[in-house]
Amino acid sequence: MSDIAKNIAAKLIQRPSVTPDDGGCQNYIASLLAPLGFVRTQVDAGDVINSIYTRQGELGGTLAFAGHTDVVPTGPVEQWPYPPFSATIVDDILHGRGAQDMKGAIACWIAAVADLCSSYTPMPTIQLLITSDEEGESVDGTIRMVEYLQAHNKLPDAVIIGEPSCSEKVGDTIRRGRRGVVQIKAVFHGKQGHSAYPQDADNAIHRATPALSRIAAIDWGVPATGFPATSCQITNLNGGTGASNVIPGHCNAFIDIRYNPGNRFEEIKAAIESACADCDVTLSFDHVATAFSTADGPFLDQICTSIQRIAGIETLRDTGGGTSDGRFLAAAGIPVAELGTTNSTIHQVGEQVALHELTTLTAIYTDIIKHFEVQP
Ligand SMILES: [Zn+2]
Repeated sequence: MSDIAKNIAAKLIQRPSVTPDDGGCQNYIASLLAPLGFVRTQVDAGDVINSIYTRQGELGGTLAFAGHTDVVPTGPVEQWPYPPFSATIVDDILHGRGAQDMKGAIACWIAAVADLCSSYTPMPTIQLLITSDEEGESVDGTIRMVEYLQAHNKLPDAVIIGEPSCSEKVGDTIRRGRRGVVQIKAVFHGKQGHSAYPQDADNAIHRATPALSRIAAIDWGVPATGFPATSCQITNLNGGTGASNVIPGHCNAFIDIRYNPGNRFEEIKAAIESACADCDVTLSFDHVATAFSTADGPFLDQICTSIQRIAGIETLRDTGGGTSDGRFLAAAGIPVAELGTTNSTIHQVGEQVALHELTTLTAIYTDIIKHFEVQP
């Protein structure tokens, strides 16, 4: 079983697929899944290749696995211990870009399904939702497949995302939600003038700083259960011409907000606008990602039970880190959990994964599929 996952992971790594390039990965995946009874539907958008692979189940319900074939750039190749797309295996370690994030996990899911097929184990309907646009803009990727599934009434009952969720050991952490992201550009307007003639000017920095202090002091309330408090950070502040004797006519600020599902975008927007109410200011809001959360319940319990059965460890149900494609699936009302390998080398020079992790993750995925039940 472990050899199947190892070999697939290596073949995927050997297909360079720097975002949003797929590098032929999804055709390769199709060649593995077709003999297992999967039908592929391509939902390409822009330069992005998206594939929905579906195997009609013997049991009721649909369980999906969502993942991405694109990887981040390698950085300086000469600093890698082995060439980043060589998939070199030394001792228990598979080296290469995408080993943890997340070609390893894709390989494990395919190996799990192959294993269950070979033993004629009855399964629910299985979907793989694979995009090549996760590490980049994420505008033509998973969201397009969700739109397609919605339009064709084929949304799954639950989704496992193969993002590398674990810290020390496979199964020690799943992510059941992520914070949302709002980015704001604020341009405070005043009137430029000579610093010796303030009566003829209106200092934009003097306008901006009290407003920014009020923004930094906003009380965002009690966070949703299991989430950290909303964080509001002023990340850039620029004003003035560089000359000491010129009162600035403009002052620019960037504000970055990571919010938990206890807050809503509209509420965040209103709070920022209210803090700037007495300023002549232009505010541009970018709601980069919506917060999402899968409630405690049978789906998360079942995943943790499978991890306990296979790996014998307790699982932390976490919400940390940046955003993920889970937001698009959660927005469609689907329970979402992220479970993959450890994440110690993701996006780094020298990305690698331990082969025993692939063995464990394959066994956990197999157990999850075997015991999946649709909740009424
Ligand atoms: Zn990833």
